[in-house]
Amino acid sequence: MQIYADNAATTSLSPKVLEAMTPYLTEIYGNPSSLYRIGAAAKEAVEESREKIASLIGAKNGSEIFFTSGGSEADNWAIKGVCRILKEKGKNHIITTKFEHHAVLHVCESLQKEGFEVTYLDVYENGIVKPEDVKNAIKDTTALVTIMYANNEIGTIQPIAEIGKICREAGVLFHTDAVQAMGNVPINVQEECIDLLSLTGHKFHGPKGCGALYIRLGTRIKSLIEGGAQERSRRAGTENVAGIVGLAKALELAISTMEERKEKLTKMRNRLITGLLQIERSRLNGDRESRLPGNINMCFEGIEGESLLLMLDIKGVSASSGSACTSGSLDPSHVLLSLGLPHEIAHGSLRLSFSDANTEEEIDYLLKIIPETVEYLRSFSPLWDKIKSEEK
Ligand SMILES: *Cc1c(COP(=O)(O)O)cnc(C)c1O
Repeated sequence: MQIYADNAATTSLSPKVLEAMTPYLTEIYGNPSSLYRIGAAAKEAVEESREKIASLIGAKNGSEIFFTSGGSEADNWAIKGVCRILKEKGKNHIITTKFEHHAVLHVCESLQKEGFEVTYLDVYENGIVKPEDVKNAIKDTTALVTIMYANNEIGTIQPIAEIGKICREAGVLFHTDAVQAMGNVPINVQEECIDLLSLTGHKFHGPKGCGALYIRLGTRIKSLIEGGAQERSRRAGTENVAGIVGLAKALELAISTMEERKEKLTKMRNRLITGLLQIERSRLNGDRESRLPGNINMCFEGIEGESLLLMLDIKGVSASSGSACTSGSLDPSHVLLSLGLPHEIAHGSLRLSFSDANTEEEIDYLLKIIPETVEYLRSFSPLWDKIKSEEK
């Protein structure tokens, strides 16, 4: 059996999305900035996609949507673009959390080198930020609050509307990296007082290399990519027309199927969690309720996450130990450490993330092979022997 259970890293391209994109990869190849007909047709497709995305996320209109090369660029642009302008007004403080994606954390670290002060909020054992902590951290010099909508490793969903309200009342700009949440959770930028929001297509069955940044009308922001006058002179570069069309189509499909998918995935996920928690010395990371429907993240004491992944791969399962960006390094995930887990435990983590394509039969198979594999790895683990001898 082949099981793809790494949808938090990326998803398959939906056939319907590919179909919508194909004309823009073949006949309609004109440059949207040109005046002849195949250029105009491309431009029209870009503008229709922009309006579609705006209405799907509750923006006022398409003028608030800017296309980017994906989530990382949107995060970089939102944070650097806003902070570098506000610094000129003496605002040099950023509030974020300890468990952001590296596309946010590394940007904050590089801004620290430019003289910014950064507050990294705690996310507690359940992986959820406390809105009152945001309120208490805001000061006169705060330029931006940037907090992710849902975490990419443990799937926990943050109280974004409450945080947005606090920021709006304090007159501080609020950015959210909604890459994981988009298409899985209802999002409305106006109702939730969001000023900037990052999203990317490949996390909801759209193409890779195309995303967007929502920028609320009137928000001052510096360009990140300078050059031509595309994206109303704020983001240069010939538009990824097919990607943009695919992005809008994928988002439309994700949102229109969100409720039924949520129901199906939550049921599958809970059955798997309950089953895997039967394994001795296992734990679920992150809140059980406030989490993405398709996300499971667990630790099994006494084993290495990497070994577990390799064994599962041999058995046909594609999973992850956490973030795709950190695999290859043997450091435990910063997300798991932010929950207060000790290094030894954080090492034995497994993330399974599901999509519509996964089935109950696959869950049955996982419930069979994961406990077997954990037991096998523990059978020659000195760490496990130590744990067991300390129990006595
Ligand atoms: C995947 C991901 C990103 C990066 O998006 P890309 O389109 O791959 O650049 C950023 N933030 C989160 C939370 C993600 O899961």
